[in-house]
Amino acid sequence: MTEEFRLLPALTPTNEHFWRGGAQGELVFLRCSACRTYIHPPAPVCPSCLGRDHAREAVSGRGQVVTFTINHQPWNPTVEVPYVIALVELDEQTGLRLATNIVGCRPEDVRIGMRVRVTFIEREDVWLPLFEPDE
Ligand SMILES: [Zn+2]
Repeated sequence: MTEEFRLLPALTPTNEHFWRGGAQGELVFLRCSACRTYIHPPAPVCPSCLGRDHAREAVSGRGQVVTFTINHQPWNPTVEVPYVIALVELDEQTGLRLATNIVGCRPEDVRIGMRVRVTFIEREDVWLPLFEPDE
């Protein structure tokens, strides 16, 4: 079976915690030490308080679907259609959102507000965070 093709991110010291946290089953963000804001995408300066002191911290991996679309177009022959492209907001912080795929259910069963939890697929040295129904 052909492994489905996925574009992989370039790992840097600034984003590696996010893309490799899945090795431990953890979804890891930078968190501002001063105001406790989770910072995503990774940045050297906190967007909330402009603080420069931050640490890596795992979140629960639980959240909800903010919006989604079902792709029916076979853009790539190795990727089975249809599939769901979604924005998921993590429980830890309003606005802490990831663009991701919803897996583990039929695309037509995905709903806005649906509870989801993170799951990871490993590609090379990257763990891509996807989400599945949390029930
Ligand atoms: Zn801050």
